[in-house]
Amino acid sequence: MDFSPDPHEEAFRQEVRGFIAESLPPELALRTRLDFRPRREDMQAWNAILYRRGWSAPSWPKEYGGAGWSPVERHIFADECASADAPPLSVFGLQLAGPTIYTYGSDAQKRLHLPGILSGEVFWCQGFSEPDAGSDLASLRTRAVRDGDEWIITGRKIWTTQAHFADMMFCLARTDPEVKPQRGLSFFLLDMKAPGVSFRPIVTLDRAHEVNEVTLDGVRVPGDGLVGEINRGWDTAKFLLTHERTFSAHVPKSRRALKRLKAIAARERKDGKPLADDPSLRRRIAEVEIELEALEFAVYRALSDKSGTSTVSAILKLRGSELEQKLTSLIIEALGARALRHWQDPSLDDALSNTIFDPDNEPGAMGTHLFLRAATIYSGSNEIQRNIIARQLLGSDAAAGRSRA
Ligand SMILES: Cc1cc2nc3c(=O)[nH]c(=O)nc-3n(C[C@H](O)[C@H](O)[C@H](O)COP(=O)(O)OP(=O)(O)OC[C@H]3O[C@@H](n4cnc5c(N)ncnc54)[C@H](O)[C@@H]3O)c2cc1C
Repeated sequence: MDFSPDPHEEAFRQEVRGFIAESLPPELALRTRLDFRPRREDMQAWNAILYRRGWSAPSWPKEYGGAGWSPVERHIFADECASADAPPLSVFGLQLAGPTIYTYGSDAQKRLHLPGILSGEVFWCQGFSEPDAGSDLASLRTRAVRDGDEWIITGRKIWTTQAHFADMMFCLARTDPEVKPQRGLSFFLLDMKAPGVSFRPIVTLDRAHEVNEVTLDGVRVPGDGLVGEINRGWDTAKFLLTHERTFSAHVPKSRRALKRLKAIAARERKDGKPLADDPSLRRRIAEVEIELEALEFAVYRALSDKSGTSTVSAILKLRGSELEQKLTSLIIEALGARALRHWQDPSLDDALSNTIFDPDNEPGAMGTHLFLRAATIYSGSNEIQRNIIARQLLGSDAAAGRSRA
């Protein structure tokens, strides 16, 4: 790729920046800035604003209603959104379900599902993991049995992010128990309000309710809920997981965290001097900044690589999640005891309106730090990503071959 400054890209950045400055409601930006867990209504409001501008799906091709931007334009857009504290959009709809449906779905599925994902009116969740199938995803036990024109799905999914406010789930279920584990899986789209779907909240270390255990008890899915060919769900899932990990680098989010870290270091004092003067902290901030620059270039390379190999996305996921954790650890270290003293429960929707606090106390920092312990687990654990890199990049046969690759 050519990284020399480009007048078109600079003009594009200014256009995006101007639009966000005019259109992003300040209360949405404040919640994001304070690291409160994104609510459905926040994501939906921002999605609707972008949708009206034709910008809700930067990575989708124009023919499906996407912005049709180049990799660099997408990156600039994400960067500007993060630095303006725009709320995140639905990863499960826009980045996972949508691209899977327009790549593998039928015309009828595209017509039925893509408009709701684009406009942000329909929320999705990802039903892959099960109590006994996480890294070894191919061993999942949820069964789908054909009954006339319909499928009947029975099983348990776990760690299902945002299932409590999702309208639809994409999931993997076993349609043939007799063949090799990867061969007998199919990819389904199911309605979360269908009879037989129930969920139990799981409250994580940060005291927030973001993930759930979902029970599917004889859920009837119409025949057109099957995406792609029967028993070929593993191929669809591999496409989706590679997509998931390419976005897991979270460079714009980490850039925002770095900016915040520097602001805290300039504001806080140690032994009467600004914390930013502390040589040990300065060195570690410089280290994470260098790592972030390197990761950003790796993301550009991955985005411009049409082959979309899973090795590159495994590297991005690995480095991106480690960097997120380093940054929040440094933020907590810089805030010291204040991080704990001012920690606000992120699941309290009214925390903002009911509490009088100073945003400089960073009430969301501790919750984010604790939640991001999971970043090296979700989207495929980092140990598994190391196995993929060992096997595909370094040519080691030692790593077994049916996990979340
Ligand atoms: C906050 C959060 C949100 C999530 N959201 C979703 C979601 O929306 N949808 C969804 O489907 N899933 C979701 N997940 C699940 C996530 O994908 C799994 O937790 C992950 O794949 C690991 O699976 P597991 O928890 O079953 O751990 P296990 O697979 O049991 O692994 C346990 C430990 O053993 C290690 N390990 C396992 N196998 C190997 C191996 N072959 N080599 C080396 N080490 C190994 C793992 O790295 C891990 O450290 C979420 C998880 C979290 C924590």
